[in-house]
Amino acid sequence: MSSEFSVTIHGCRGSYPINGEEFNRYGGATSCVVIRYGEREIIFDAGSGIINYGKELLGRSLSAGQPLIATIVFTHSHFDHLVGLPYFPPIFHPESTLYLYGPRSSRFDSFEETIETLIQAPYYPVALHEMRALKFFEDIGEADVLYFSRGKAAPVKVRSRHPEHLDRIPDDDDIDIEVHCMRGYNHPKSGVNIYKIKAGGRTVVYATDTEGYVHGDQRLAEFARGADLLIHDAMYTDDHYTSMPVPTQGYGHSTVQIATNMAKMAEVEKLCLFHHDPTSTDEILDHVGEISVDLFDNTVVAKDGMTFTL
Ligand SMILES: [Zn+2]
Ligand SMILES: [Zn+2]
Repeated sequence: MSSEFSVTIHGCRGSYPINGEEFNRYGGATSCVVIRYGEREIIFDAGSGIINYGKELLGRSLSAGQPLIATIVFTHSHFDHLVGLPYFPPIFHPESTLYLYGPRSSRFDSFEETIETLIQAPYYPVALHEMRALKFFEDIGEADVLYFSRGKAAPVKVRSRHPEHLDRIPDDDDIDIEVHCMRGYNHPKSGVNIYKIKAGGRTVVYATDTEGYVHGDQRLAEFARGADLLIHDAMYTDDHYTSMPVPTQGYGHSTVQIATNMAKMAEVEKLCLFHHDPTSTDEILDHVGEISVDLFDNTVVAKDGMTFTL
């Protein structure tokens, strides 16, 4: 099996999808990141970027004559991270199997109920249960770990240190990919899940929709320590964050300074600035790229279609 570990950004935008000439280079699709290790791919968030990726995935499985099996891990249930799910082509295909993990909100009893409530009339013409894919939902939260084992399609969720879960942990030699979850509290109103993906001795941290604290988010710095790649929210420039009469402080998003400080604190190898504000044109994002490398040398600004090979 190939041990290549790659990360592809299929949607780098926050809040809502955007198009137009001035957004062409960075792209306008909302959050969707795909981690690939060997033959396995895991999708993080179902923003509008998941739609084209879903077409490609379904096309590949149909031409290989194999049923499609996919895992989607959600950070939270804001629109920009869900809007692509009802348009994700594999969800309509009867031969697809989807494993879906996301946080339980304060309003509903499960992540499945959160999604079911959104995908139904009068908001959408097809109800979730009418979509033909076989779907397995599970809540995921603080200290949970998803294990993907060699030769097994379905991941296994383990609550770390839970005595009844210990025997679910696969043998080290069988583990392909681990996804660790940390709960972030600085995103309104139900928080956000931050994920650390480990495979083949390399680590990626996906920390979108997170703000920061005075002296930096200590829990996140510890969680992300030494990662090969940190994908971090950097929605705002400093001016946008503090400008009157509508400062964006407390909206649950970071500035370039907050993101680069975290990269330094966590001593990561590379930083990817993610979840761009929909008003940030290519020109603004070019400028963000220029100022960010002065703050943290190994920084790149996310673009739709960009791939990192680790
Ligand atoms: Zn978002
Ligand atoms: Zn959000």
